[in-house]
Amino acid sequence: MENEDLYKILGVSRTASEDEIKKAYRKLAKKYHPDLNKGDKQAEEKLKSVNKAYEVLSDKNKRAQYDQFGSAEPNFGGGGGGFQGGGGFSGFGDDFDLGDIFGSFFGGFGGRSRASNSPRKGSDVGISISITFEEAAFGCKKSIRYNRVVLCSACSGTGAKNGSSKVRCRTCGGTGQIVLGQRTPFGTIQTSQTCNACGGSGQVIEHPCGVCNGQGRVRSSENLEIEVPAGIDNGQTLNVRGKGNSGVNGGGYGDLHVEVGVRSHPIFSRKNNDVSCEIPITFVQAALGADITVPTLDGKATYHVHEGTQPGDIFRLKGKGIPFIHGSGRGDQLVKAVIEIPRNLSDEQAELLKKFESLSSSKNYQKKKSFLDRIKKLFANW
Ligand SMILES: [Zn+2]
Ligand SMILES: [Zn+2]
Repeated sequence: MENEDLYKILGVSRTASEDEIKKAYRKLAKKYHPDLNKGDKQAEEKLKSVNKAYEVLSDKNKRAQYDQFGSAEPNFGGGGGGFQGGGGFSGFGDDFDLGDIFGSFFGGFGGRSRASNSPRKGSDVGISISITFEEAAFGCKKSIRYNRVVLCSACSGTGAKNGSSKVRCRTCGGTGQIVLGQRTPFGTIQTSQTCNACGGSGQVIEHPCGVCNGQGRVRSSENLEIEVPAGIDNGQTLNVRGKGNSGVNGGGYGDLHVEVGVRSHPIFSRKNNDVSCEIPITFVQAALGADITVPTLDGKATYHVHEGTQPGDIFRLKGKGIPFIHGSGRGDQLVKAVIEIPRNLSDEQAELLKKFESLSSSKNYQKKKSFLDRIKKLFANW
C-alpha cells in the first residue's frame, strides 16, 4: 500500500482539481463505508488506502511534496488533526469505526467510539510530602493520608446492587453504538456513535448499588506507610505501584506518585551527594593550624586545619556526605574555612599585634609580595 499511486487510489488524474479529489473521495468513502461492508476486511483495507490518499492529496503542502518526492511520509503525524493525531488511523482493528475517522477529519463531529466496556487502567494520583534534611539523608518511614478512588466493596465494583446483574441496553440493543445520519460537506453519511444510555458498554444497570450510585467506584481516604529511601533529593518522586485510582472494567489501579520536598537545614546544604557547610575559624587557628570540631550528619568530627589555611579554603571529609540512593557508599562533606578577623581588641591585644606586624616580612605574605612585584613592573616610581 505504501508505494501505491495515491492518484490511482482515488481514481483521479495527477492534474485533478481540489474539487475533483474531494468528489472522488466522497464516492469511495461511501462505497467502502463499514456499515455497508460489515466484516469485509478488503473494504476496510480499501477505505484505509482511500483515507490515506485523501489525507495527502487534499492538503496542498503534502500533495506538493508527494508530487515531488513520491511520498508525503515526512509530514505524517506532524501537524495537528492528521490521522495519527485523531487516533483513528493507526488504531484500525476490530473496533474500526468511521466515526473516528471523520471525527479527526472534520474537527470532531463523530463521537468517540472506543469500545467503552474495555478495561481501562485507573489514573495516577499525585501527592507531596515534606521531610527533613536528615530524613532525606538516611531514609525514613512516613505515614501518609490521601484520597483516591477505589472499587466499591459493596458491589465488588460492578455498580449493580448486590445480587442483581446488568441487563442489555434497550436504546442500542446491546451493541453500544447507535447509527446516525450525519451531514458533512459531502452530503449525508451514516456514522455510528457511542450510545449515551449505556456509555457504549451495551449493558445497563437496572438496580444500581446504593453505596456507589452504580459507579462501581467510590472515593476513599487512605492511610499508607511509605518507605523513603536514604539519599532521596528535593523534588524527586517516589512511585508506589497500584496505589492510585481504580480503573474501570477490571483495568487495574493507577500508581501513586509521592513528590518529596526536603526542608532546608540551618547548617548544611547539599549538592548531589555532597554536603557543604562553612566553619568560622580564628585567624590565629588559620595561621598556626589547629584541631577543630566539625558538625557532620553523623555528629561531631575532628579535623586538623593545617597551618597557613587561607580564607575560602575547602577541605573534604570523605564519606561524610549523603548515601547514594541506589547503591552503596556516600558522598563527601565539604567544609569551607571562613577566617574571622577579630574585632573589639583590647589594648594589650592591639600591642601584641603591632609587635607581631613589626616582626613580619614578605616571607609571611606571599600573595602581597607577588602583587607588589607585579605592580612595580608596571609603575616605575611605585
Ligand atoms: Zn457499589
Ligand atoms: Zn446502549
